[in-house]
Amino acid sequence: MALVSTKVILEDAYKNHYAIGAFGVHNLEVMKAVAAGAESLDAPVIFQTTPGTIRYTGIDYIQALATMVAEKSKVPIALHLDHGDSYETVMQCLRAGYTSVMIDGSRLPFNENIVLVKRVVEAAHAVNVPVEAELGTIGGVEDDLSVEDKDTQLTDPDLAEEFVRETNIDSFAPAFGTAHGLYKSEPKLNFRLIETISKRIGCPIVMHGASGVPEESVQKSLQFGVSKVNFSTELKVEFVSRLRDYLVNNPNTDDPRKYFVPAREAVTEIVKEKISMLQIKKTYA
Ligand SMILES: [Zn+2]
Repeated sequence: MALVSTKVILEDAYKNHYAIGAFGVHNLEVMKAVAAGAESLDAPVIFQTTPGTIRYTGIDYIQALATMVAEKSKVPIALHLDHGDSYETVMQCLRAGYTSVMIDGSRLPFNENIVLVKRVVEAAHAVNVPVEAELGTIGGVEDDLSVEDKDTQLTDPDLAEEFVRETNIDSFAPAFGTAHGLYKSEPKLNFRLIETISKRIGCPIVMHGASGVPEESVQKSLQFGVSKVNFSTELKVEFVSRLRDYLVNNPNTDDPRKYFVPAREAVTEIVKEKISMLQIKKTYA
């Protein structure tokens, strides 16, 4: 089928207390591996790319590859911009055919973040593309950005309510204790904060930095409105470690049709493991 919007799949997940897995993809190998994992569990799935990946792979290539994988897939697949860094990047994605975008103005002062997100929402909604935005500061390293632990800041529920109301976004990424990249110690999620924010905003919540968050914590968050869970780091780590193993064990190989196979299979296994955590219910059309 064609690429789908995240609007329908996230709202169904939100209403029925499950979540959609959103996986960072960089090339055809990973896209096919993610689609295979989702398909084996009959689950909708989101491909997402950061601006850095768009610069590396090329926006038209990503859109064409994702469209082709989606058309051959039996499950709904959406193509999402993760951590959109400017109005211009979002416009490029809308023009290229992305079916979902995030604008990340979380480094801006509150009012400037609202102004930026409102502009993006007006443009994206005009072409029926839903928007995710972030408030607060999620720690760790994402794309070219790095946030020190001491600079992370949990989202204030009052500001969250005002932010969502003013901007009319479709999904909200608050900071509640997760971080991007690999965790040094087990992350402690603030469930009371997630619950409070969820009650105040009434739209799907996105968990960033879910690689390494324990299964019980991810599952507990689903009852409080977390409907999209982002995984990237674990996929990258597993892909490269299996590729490295293969190359070390087969030093004379020169065949990409062989050395990518174990890496691709490893990504499919991780995707299955992650999607299984998200308690997908077959309520979507
Ligand atoms: Zn993120």
